[in-house]
Amino acid sequence: MAAKRKRKRISRTEISYLREYSYEIKVAIIFALGVFLLVEKLEIKHYLYLWVRGTLFFIGDIIKSVAGGFEFVIGTFETSDIVGIILIITAFFMVSKRWRERTIERNSSLINCPNCDGDFKRIRRTSYQRLQSFFWWVKVKHYECKNCSQTYMQMTERRS
Ligand SMILES: [Zn+2]
Repeated sequence: MAAKRKRKRISRTEISYLREYSYEIKVAIIFALGVFLLVEKLEIKHYLYLWVRGTLFFIGDIIKSVAGGFEFVIGTFETSDIVGIILIITAFFMVSKRWRERTIERNSSLINCPNCDGDFKRIRRTSYQRLQSFFWWVKVKHYECKNCSQTYMQMTERRS
């Protein structure tokens, strides 16, 4: 009880002390805040300036290195090389397109097992089939015969 009273008395005197000098304290706080804001603003401006400058220089460096890379590529490969590469890529693309059409043609209709005429159940696709489905933009289903465990793939065009 005594301790409590003591504490109360102390806090009361602290409050009265604060009340007495409240005006000065407010002024001091306002003054400090003003000085802080001024200094801080200058600091912020300085850092902002440094940051913007750094960012611009960084972007400039990126543009420079990209341009350098292009120059390197163009300097290294001659026009005939580039045409050659384009032709090879086109040939690959054409072969892939034909191969895709053939694979769809062969694997689109699948009702019963060609081996034993059994029923199918769906099984997980292999990663190769998933790649085919992605790159060829086709629907791929993987089946297993319930009878003879032979696996088959069905490939159809995506309808969309
Ligand atoms: Zn079968």
